[in-house]
Amino acid sequence: MIGFDEAFATVMAETRPVEGVALVAVAEGLGRVLSMPAIAPADVPNHANSAMDGYAVRTADLSREGSVTLTVVADLPAGDRLERALGAGEAVRIMTGAPIPPGCDCVVMQERVRRDGDQVGIPAGCLPGDNIRPAGEDIQAGSVVLPKGCRLRPAHLGLLTSLGFERIEVYRQPVVAVLSTGNEVVEAGTPLLPGQVYDSNRTALRAALLALGVKVLDLGLVRDDREALAAAFARAGHEADAVISTGGVSVGDYDLVKEVLVGQGSIHFWQVAMKPGKPQAYGRLGQARFFGLPGNPVSGMTVFMLIVRPALLKLMGASEEPPRRMRAAFRGMLRKKHNRRDFLRGIAHFDEAGPWVETTGPQGSGILTSVARANVLILLPEEPLELRDGDPVTIQWIEHD
Ligand code: AMP
Ligand code: MG
Repeated sequence: MIGFDEAFATVMAETRPVEGVALVAVAEGLGRVLSMPAIAPADVPNHANSAMDGYAVRTADLSREGSVTLTVVADLPAGDRLERALGAGEAVRIMTGAPIPPGCDCVVMQERVRRDGDQVGIPAGCLPGDNIRPAGEDIQAGSVVLPKGCRLRPAHLGLLTSLGFERIEVYRQPVVAVLSTGNEVVEAGTPLLPGQVYDSNRTALRAALLALGVKVLDLGLVRDDREALAAAFARAGHEADAVISTGGVSVGDYDLVKEVLVGQGSIHFWQVAMKPGKPQAYGRLGQARFFGLPGNPVSGMTVFMLIVRPALLKLMGASEEPPRRMRAAFRGMLRKKHNRRDFLRGIAHFDEAGPWVETTGPQGSGILTSVARANVLILLPEEPLELRDGDPVTIQWIEHD
């Protein structure tokens, strides 16, 4: 049995981004990962422009003591441009976003002026640069706007479009095979016989994989049978970049996943000092990383969140982000006796009292409602310990995509 930190480090060290890139339309890029940095081809904004509705003027024409009267020679809505430079004594009516005409160095808010026909009175106190957004204020041409490894979110797609990108180079989407094992596991839609359970693992895992942005290869439900497993594994090892199975990794008579995996690939570890999730099998199957999760829905989902998800993100090419953790005050009473890292399902609250956390209730590994209700995992150290009201604990945010 190895420790959680060692298991995590092993998996991460052995995972590399997929090979192969694709060109996709920016509009189709949600969830994809940049395989090269996005470099700004031009300044944003591309031209100094007005931050206000008002009058563009030359401060050289203004007076420090009192107001001056200028002649309005043009009207500039956003989208229009004035090519010629302003002469002495001239002003331009300008709208927010319109480019500053050559020679102007200040925009005076319309609330501050007095307009009379084509004459406009400009008060004292207007300074060069006032109400002007300089070119490149947001982004300078040639700068890296998004780094390689950026997982594209809606705002990133908007930003890329603002720079004129139509298509971007992203990593190929990894193919992740999922399969459930267990003779007692059945598809929803048929009445359950005594001893049967519905295949909740595959539903939850498929959804988690889709949210992550990989391609799912659903290999369905496989019976606890060497030949059936071998056939499913052969296909998975051939077609997928990663394989996730659930069930069959414990020490029971029908726990055949490890045995079949060793026959077709290799196993790197198969027990981790964590709770839930002690039985699991990590290894290789052909070109693919193999994650044999425990059948228990709570255990399987916990191992997925803590180990598989970060590894899949790395496989997708995404830059590594540390898990979002913080300290919170524990509310309740709890005694931990075993010597394994414990990952309790918790509900964190953020209110005036500061962050505090309670467990979701009973923490048995068969209690799937605990995962459904949780927004954090409470991370407890390996050593036995007792927690009382107010004790500080570390929590880790449960990510949903
Ligand atoms: P196993 O890891 O195969 O020993 O399974 C452990 C427990 O998880 C058993 O109670 C199984 O019935 C249950 N289980 C296994 N696979 C699934 C599944 N796909 N969906 C829901 N429960 C499952
Ligand atoms: Mg089983």
